[in-house]
Amino acid sequence: IYGANRKNSKGVNLMINSQLEPLLESIHAWDNHQWKGQPLLGTSLAADPQLKQAIVSPFDKNQQVGEIQWTSPEQAKAALDVAHQAFPDWNAVPVAERAALLRKIGDTLEDHLAELMALCAREAGKQLADGVAEIREAVDFCRYYANQAEKLFGETTVLPGPTGESNELYLTGKGVFVAISPWNFPVAIFLGQVLAAAVSGNTVLAKPAEQTSLVACRCMELIYEAGMPRDVIQLLPGLGKDIGPVLTADPRVTGVAFTGSTETAQVINRSLAARENAPLAALVAETGGQNAMIVDSTALPEQVVADVVESSFTSAGQRCSALRVLFLQEDIADRVLEILSGAMQALQLGDPRDPATDVGPVIDATARKNLEAHVEKFRQQGRILAETQVPKALQEQGEFVAPVTIKLESLDELEREQFGPILHVIRYKSTELDSVIDSINRSGYGLTFGIQSRNESFAAYIDSKMRVGNVYVNRNMIGAVVGVQPFGGMGLSGTGPKAGGPHYLLRFASERTRTINT
Ligand code: GLU
Repeated sequence: IYGANRKNSKGVNLMINSQLEPLLESIHAWDNHQWKGQPLLGTSLAADPQLKQAIVSPFDKNQQVGEIQWTSPEQAKAALDVAHQAFPDWNAVPVAERAALLRKIGDTLEDHLAELMALCAREAGKQLADGVAEIREAVDFCRYYANQAEKLFGETTVLPGPTGESNELYLTGKGVFVAISPWNFPVAIFLGQVLAAAVSGNTVLAKPAEQTSLVACRCMELIYEAGMPRDVIQLLPGLGKDIGPVLTADPRVTGVAFTGSTETAQVINRSLAARENAPLAALVAETGGQNAMIVDSTALPEQVVADVVESSFTSAGQRCSALRVLFLQEDIADRVLEILSGAMQALQLGDPRDPATDVGPVIDATARKNLEAHVEKFRQQGRILAETQVPKALQEQGEFVAPVTIKLESLDELEREQFGPILHVIRYKSTELDSVIDSINRSGYGLTFGIQSRNESFAAYIDSKMRVGNVYVNRNMIGAVVGVQPFGGMGLSGTGPKAGGPHYLLRFASERTRTINT
């Protein structure tokens, strides 16, 4: 896809036994392993033992995955000193060398597919297909950003000027970047942010989500093994409230890459803006959504259901891109809901390492309780359209939430994004189409959006009205592929530019013009 000899990673086809079985065997080899995580700081910094915390698996509360040691605010400050000092030398490393390092990291990740999938399953509850996709995406980011960096940073644009003067324009790193990453893509988004910043010449302080700090640590160890200097990317596992403000308030930070909630992005933005005598920092934020799909009467009900099930319930609905609100034209609504209800019964909840599992657990008890409270509120009002059950054994064992479909009258009834396997359904009449479109745009979010229709002009009309980052017509709305569907939203859903797209690295760079009187 990227041109000759530059393809997306090939992944594993889980439908083919000869590929699935050896992979499963390698994943299960890690069943009893205990991973250890800690701050990974610059070479000059001494270890300073902090409180350790045991990490348990979201699908089995009795299963410990390992132990993590948090970063202290003092260590975070010391890491900032290191990053600040290391920047000029790293920024001077030829881009071809930085790109080669990313490619090596990509290969290293591929070599550790089974371990990383095992850790993603045990720490984050990632089901097998999601685990394969996770590592593939991380590898793709490495290769794609390596190629983009060479293209963008490797070329100097020669500009016109009068005789005796040479003018050129080129890109250079900005300085110190902070990367704050989410638990739902603990390898792909974590590495995508961190490596985009580093390949652009910046030094990086990475603060992974608390829930997935072990896999972040393991990725960093692999990155160092591949040759990344420790001073260039440091890892600061810790509680966001302790570490985040230390980083974003520091005047030496020149940019932040963040994926998470809209509220946290706004807090970061305010913290960066409140600094005195500090650079006007770049914020690259990918935040929440209230993603909708509009289905008109010409759509194929079976296809609608297949795409809805994938978009709303796989990954336990824990993707920013997941479908939250399905708008069904009234002529097709009953048929779609009937098939959907049947399809939902076939979804199997369970151990994420079991190939039969469609839906794994949600990330933790807090998430489960919030989702359950949301469902309960609508249950009281008799608004459950279809639901499945969490088997008794799993209820006691882990943080499972059963896929459910809830009836709404309008989008205004949804206060916030429900980050789990919960789908809301709204029926509309053809005459109400414009007000449906308005209600979606009025939410202020604009991440993904789906259209299902066999009428091209209908689809084109809706497409032209929507203020969203990624539109999907007659297919599911998740799983954007690096270099194929650059991903990211508008408005409350993010700043852009899009991850896995040709403009992403530009936000991590400064432009410089050089004029020489020759
Ligand atoms: N890029 C992912 C997708 O297309 C979603 C990323 C996210 O959840 O933040 O499904």
